[in-house]
Amino acid sequence: MNKERFIKNFTDFVKIPSESSNEEEFLKYFEGFVKNLGGTSERDSYGNLIARFPAKNSNKTEYIAFGAHADTVKPGVGIKPIVKDDKITSDGTTVLGSDDKAGLAEAIEAMMIAEKHPPIEIIVTKEEEIGSFGSSNLDYSLVKSKEAYVIDGEYVNEIIVGGPTLITLDIEITGKSAHAGMAPQEGISSIQVAANAISRLKLGLYDENSTANIGIIKGGEIRNGIPEKTTVTGECRSLDHEKALKICEEMKKAFTEEAEKLGAKVEIKDNVALKAYNLPETEKVIATVKEGMKKAGLEAKMTIIKGGTDATHFNANGVKTAVLGVGNRKIHSVDEYLLLDSAEKIINAMKHTMEALA
Ligand SMILES: [Zn+2]
Repeated sequence: MNKERFIKNFTDFVKIPSESSNEEEFLKYFEGFVKNLGGTSERDSYGNLIARFPAKNSNKTEYIAFGAHADTVKPGVGIKPIVKDDKITSDGTTVLGSDDKAGLAEAIEAMMIAEKHPPIEIIVTKEEEIGSFGSSNLDYSLVKSKEAYVIDGEYVNEIIVGGPTLITLDIEITGKSAHAGMAPQEGISSIQVAANAISRLKLGLYDENSTANIGIIKGGEIRNGIPEKTTVTGECRSLDHEKALKICEEMKKAFTEEAEKLGAKVEIKDNVALKAYNLPETEKVIATVKEGMKKAGLEAKMTIIKGGTDATHFNANGVKTAVLGVGNRKIHSVDEYLLLDSAEKIINAMKHTMEALA
């Protein structure tokens, strides 16, 4: 890589603040940056940015996409990057913003040093850190690529190839209020319903690939009253989509049946927030980068995570996507730093990947 150029681009990027939902100044800047590099930019109605660059020394017409999110966590205003030896840090009062602007600068650098590459899309999403809202609302009809790499992991030898289905549950139990001492027989305790239902659930690690949790219980208003309302918030996850649906049904059934036994009402809202994906090692998007990493001196390790990323939404919308590492550490803290030798390795891995696709 051209180390000086990479450091300049990266530090220029992080100096422009872009905390979640306040990405506009940075995205405007990035549009100009893309134009200077000979690319074009398009924005979708949510505000996500898609940059496109023509093929170099290649007559391939099939696009490949690289994704990174524009937003940073707080505190992310007034970032002063410090380059010292083989690390870039903040001045200790803010995050560094390598999550994920280093991912973006790395994809750009890889494209610049690649001797040849197919047409490239760079997808810059908004609001990843507060729930991947940019990628879940992205206008996928604008995306020309069928395959993508999101550069937003930490370790550069890891390829994240899969993630879980996540279903959220919002449960509202309505019993009947009454004086707890004078007329308990007239009341129906919504807390009792919740307790009976929850005691039936298998929470925590449900099986090797699945989890279930009740995160919040709120119920009752006074000590000496039978509590009429109780709300319960929970979730379940599984790497197997069907299994997640099954666990969700079990959870719903427990509340419905226990409410019925005591004569309470229950209203349950369930929402599939993430849909599971698991790309096999033989899938082209994985095999190509694995080979690219090998050429860059990295021994690739496939991993599956129990959380969501932009890649979850890309995959759910038909863009086969793996997550690559940025080479940063201690993200989401003021101690965040970027390792330059790791950055160089992933840049080289992406360069080889681009060349192989050209
Ligand atoms: Zn990130």
